[in-house]
Amino acid sequence: MQPHAESDADVIVVGGGLSGLTCAWRLQQCGLDVLLLESASRAGGCIGTYKEDGYLLETGPNSALDTSPLIGRLLQELAIGDAKIVSNPAASKRFVVRGGRPVALPMSPLQFLGSGLFSTAAKLRLCAEPFLPRGSPSEDETVAAFVRRRLGDEFLHYAINPFVGGVYAGRPEQLSLRSAFPRLHALEQRYGSLIRGQWMGRRARAAEAATSKHTAAMFSFRGGMETLTIALAQRLKRIVLNAPASVVQAGPTTFSMTAGAGGAVRTLSAPAVVLAVPAYAAAPLVRLLAPATAAALEDIPYPPVSVVHTGYEGAAEGHALDGFGMLVPECEHRQILGSIFSSTLFHERAAPGHRLLTTFIGGTRQAGLASLEDGALHALVRQEHRALLGMEHGPAFQRVRKWARAIPQYTVGHEQRMQQVAAAEAALGGLFFCANYRGGISIGDCIASAEAVAGRVVAQLATR
Ligand SMILES: Cc1cc2nc3c(=O)[nH]c(=O)nc-3n(C[C@H](O)[C@H](O)[C@H](O)COP(=O)(O)OP(=O)(O)OC[C@H]3O[C@@H](n4cnc5c(N)ncnc54)[C@H](O)[C@@H]3O)c2cc1C
Repeated sequence: MQPHAESDADVIVVGGGLSGLTCAWRLQQCGLDVLLLESASRAGGCIGTYKEDGYLLETGPNSALDTSPLIGRLLQELAIGDAKIVSNPAASKRFVVRGGRPVALPMSPLQFLGSGLFSTAAKLRLCAEPFLPRGSPSEDETVAAFVRRRLGDEFLHYAINPFVGGVYAGRPEQLSLRSAFPRLHALEQRYGSLIRGQWMGRRARAAEAATSKHTAAMFSFRGGMETLTIALAQRLKRIVLNAPASVVQAGPTTFSMTAGAGGAVRTLSAPAVVLAVPAYAAAPLVRLLAPATAAALEDIPYPPVSVVHTGYEGAAEGHALDGFGMLVPECEHRQILGSIFSSTLFHERAAPGHRLLTTFIGGTRQAGLASLEDGALHALVRQEHRALLGMEHGPAFQRVRKWARAIPQYTVGHEQRMQQVAAAEAALGGLFFCANYRGGISIGDCIASAEAVAGRVVAQLATR
């Protein structure tokens, strides 16, 4: 494919988080001249790792699930397969707080029957699930309504509420089942039951070579999650940092925008543009070209989350931290969403004799708490660790990373918003949207979506 004569690249990718980096990499691999613009002074977006006082700290994701062969292919192309590490077997256990103490989440039907996390009534209620009628295929139901209908209130409060808090920093009462958990919606529609569908869906997943999020291996890298985004950024031929892009305009054959800061602002154009920025950042870029899409993008909420790293030194006390971490249901009225037992999850996250926990605060549930001063966040986490995990001695180390707008919420109506996004792509021919508000928020989902968008860009350019 020949570069377009009067443009600066075949494709301009705006945004150097995982979505933009992966999309740009795939396009480059397809032989296209790709220019990536990133507004920050570093690439990686939400993904960031740093080391301090012997601790390895993740500012965003702590781990990823190996759900798709696309991940393995990407790591192989980037030659970072050897740096990949899988979670410690000890981290397979998960805890949910009930009655002010962490209770192990049952991981098998047998454990479920013996678990103290759910009452006998809740267990019996779950047994009725395969016999309940299917919900409406067209209703945009909330996650809470769906779970209440199929699995009962207690399952909503002690399994789904903490899970949604842990994954989306959101609330099941606001998220759309179809958009946030499309697989659960599909299981009910296809098999009439989650339990039946979970069992029968195994064959379909094997045929697609996809792995369920329940069984996929959890991985990171020896040097932390940033290994992935650093490798991607280093292999891109044209990446410009400190280059915020502004309003995108459409010419007869190319799209143009200004990019850069201070004295380094330039006008750039290309026949294809991929907007790999958060929805709230994409909206102003397309307000002139696609006002309805801009309005839809602005409607996607991003609650704030603060990440508090806490290191403890000396002899283990209180909870054994023998698991992935603990999640806190809203009905327990605590002040944290949950804590990852980071030094149990992967080796070399803390020096010998130290333990590292990563705690999440805020989200839709308690947005106000996320913006507390660092000192107040430190104190709050110390207090919750003491109460829930029995950490009587204060921590040796604490650091905070605040995300003012952390994770997009796939709330009811998200599907219509995404239809607006697709409509703009169809109408404008050459403008693409690719970020974690579309196709899933997880690392694996972002990679799969970016690969798919890259495929559509290549197809679009081939028609010119
Ligand atoms: C606290 C936290 C914990 C998480 N934990 C996990 C986890 O454990 N496992 C998991 O799978 N996922 C997790 N996620 C989700 C996952 O990390 C994200 O969904 C994913 O990294 C998002 O990548 P992205 O490229 O779509 O967006 P982003 O990472 O937000 O990247 C967007 C980029 O666009 C840039 N940008 C914005 N505006 C402009 C502009 N005008 N011009 C140029 N550039 C611009 C930004 O600076 C940014 O670099 C977590 C997310 C957060 C915030």
